[in-house]
Amino acid sequence: MTGSWIDISVPIYPGMVHWPDNPAVRIERIQDLSRGDAANVSKLEMGAHTGTHMDAPRHFLADGAGLDELPLVTTIGPARVFPIVHPRTILPEELEAHRLRAGERVLFRTQNSERCWKDNRFVEDFVYISAAAAQYLVQLQVRTVGIDYLSVGGYVHDGVETHRILLGAGIWLIEGLNLAAVKPGAYELVCLPLRVVGADGAPARAILRPSGRGKASKAG
Ligand SMILES: [Zn+2]
Repeated sequence: MTGSWIDISVPIYPGMVHWPDNPAVRIERIQDLSRGDAANVSKLEMGAHTGTHMDAPRHFLADGAGLDELPLVTTIGPARVFPIVHPRTILPEELEAHRLRAGERVLFRTQNSERCWKDNRFVEDFVYISAAAAQYLVQLQVRTVGIDYLSVGGYVHDGVETHRILLGAGIWLIEGLNLAAVKPGAYELVCLPLRVVGADGAPARAILRPSGRGKASKAG
């Protein structure tokens, strides 16, 4: 049994939330039918780490791989969504109970999903992955890590450290997910960031569907 696809990416629009020192989203009609042009054509302007996006190793490592080097298997395939109850930080102690496996794609559903996407204000005290939990994920050799706000690391604590630990170990990161409509469990994940050459990050569309216990069907 498989369910239908759930969109876990956030909408992109002018005025939407972004990391404080990153650029705002602008969408400008540079050709417009209403002005007599032959077509509507928009110019998109946004930071590479706004909304649902992926981080490449190059985000924090000068010689790291760019996002165009992302192996597709990183973000297409089985994934598990884990509930995080801690209201501030993901700690190794909480992860231990979940028995994460090597090679897994893991998505953390924290209070952020319900709390942080409600309006366009940047939330400073979002739930983040502590540096200690990042080390734990590296030790377990998970493949991919997803989080439900704009950064795997905190705004005040572990921002740089958590990124360096995960990206330095070859773990690819999906940030800016909204998992409010998703229950913890086993899913199929499809997440495709734009193929921007040498990019430190890029916007992505991410979808999940429940995989049940057996093999996923082709339909849907
Ligand atoms: Zn990022």
